[in-house]
Amino acid sequence: MIAIIGGGISGLTLAYNLQKKNIPYVLMEEASVLGGCIQTDYKNNVIAEKGPNSILADEFIFDFLSDLGLDNEIILANKTIKKRFIYKGGKYRALPSGPISLLSSSFFSWSQRIKIFKEFKNKTLSKHNSTLYDLIQSRFGNEVSDYVLDPFVTGIYAGDSKELIADLCFPVLTQNIKQYGSILKGFIKNPPKRKKTITFKKGLSQLIDTLQQRLQHIRYETKVVALNKEGESWSLLVSSKEGEEHILCTKVVLAIPAYRAASLVRPYFPTIASLFDKVEYPLVYYVHILFYKKQLGFQPNGFGALHPTNEKLLIAGVIWNSSVFDGRTSDDVVLLTCMINEKRAPFIKTMSQEKIQIMVVAEIKELYSVAGHPISVTIGSWKKSIPQYNIDMVDVKDNISYLEKENIYILSNWPNGISIADCIYHASEFSNIE
Ligand SMILES: Cc1cc2nc3c(=O)[nH]c(=O)nc-3n(C[C@H](O)[C@H](O)[C@H](O)COP(=O)(O)OP(=O)(O)OC[C@H]3O[C@@H](n4cnc5c(N)ncnc54)[C@H](O)[C@@H]3O)c2cc1C
Repeated sequence: MIAIIGGGISGLTLAYNLQKKNIPYVLMEEASVLGGCIQTDYKNNVIAEKGPNSILADEFIFDFLSDLGLDNEIILANKTIKKRFIYKGGKYRALPSGPISLLSSSFFSWSQRIKIFKEFKNKTLSKHNSTLYDLIQSRFGNEVSDYVLDPFVTGIYAGDSKELIADLCFPVLTQNIKQYGSILKGFIKNPPKRKKTITFKKGLSQLIDTLQQRLQHIRYETKVVALNKEGESWSLLVSSKEGEEHILCTKVVLAIPAYRAASLVRPYFPTIASLFDKVEYPLVYYVHILFYKKQLGFQPNGFGALHPTNEKLLIAGVIWNSSVFDGRTSDDVVLLTCMINEKRAPFIKTMSQEKIQIMVVAEIKELYSVAGHPISVTIGSWKKSIPQYNIDMVDVKDNISYLEKENIYILSNWPNGISIADCIYHASEFSNIE
């Protein structure tokens, strides 16, 4: 039997695939609800996401959702999401979306625009374990690294592009340089697969609820406390309302964060545990703010806005939820999700939640020329949010295969991709282990 520890999207997808193949499994989740990072707040006809807001889906993901019977529940993002705004020089400016708008827009200086086109002939080679910032800066220049890369990386990883390793985050960049001598040439010769941004009628938790309904062997409020080797098998010490018990299995899948995996593997693999301990998960606050449309000085129409580090704002980015997907709020109301992270603003670690909320609302009122007070404000946090693919993750990746020889497998958003789609791909692939 396979023991799956963790009922986030990784563990649930694996359980679903194993069940379809009639491979015995049991999934243990320490919380009373499933989903891990995926948690939708649904009240007063407002659908707000505490964690991820959308899935970037390709054909594989659509097939997976179809198999789950979710075809008619999918909501595609509005076309308007192609518009992305960056705060630059005191105002929001649309990011050029292609070569023509790049030439006609004044987002970049003329010398920067020329530099972008010169990337095709840039002979700089990428260094081993180069950071994203160094790689992009060496090929495209400062304006691209400071005003495109930096805010996007903050939006995806809640991280710092000067720390994240290019090969771990976006291996295609260095592959393009190796194969074609240019990142842009690589994208032209080998365009990325078309993907669609999606959610569900009742938000992302609908995916979790559907998986939950399909699965037969889930144990809730069941925490795995220790792993003990018994011959070729593993005996799991689990703790639940009924007390402690042992569960015997042939393979253990750790679909849990690195710092939780560390404590389980430490007695047998102390060196690997110390590598897992180093994986950084920054503190992130999310603030949902509702306004009447008529209160805002301009109508948010696009995916949202990102705030580069150089602009020194507290909020790293704002998702314009009610513009991205229909049905998130009533038509006269706007939902904004503001993200604040400690990599950008380290002082939030020692600040009270109330103070952060006051500062965020004040910043939003100024940025969006708001008249009056919000209809409602909800703040929450992820004390340990998204694993950082920095230099410490290189060692983690190099050592994971050692655990696999002992029938312990890592299947989570570290170290093989943080997106929900990545978690689904890997868990689906992984179900072939028997
Ligand atoms: C704020 C935020 C915004 C994000 N935005 C996006 C986005 O827009 N799009 C996107 O694609 N991705 C996004 N992500 C990333 C994505 O949500 C996650 O990478 C993904 O959901 C992780 O799933 P997982 O199953 O690997 O891990 P988790 O969701 O962390 O699940 C792990 C589970 O294991 C359980 N657990 C831990 N230890 C034990 C134990 N000892 N015993 C039993 N159970 C245990 C936990 O309770 C938890 O339920 C975001 C993440 C965050 C935090």
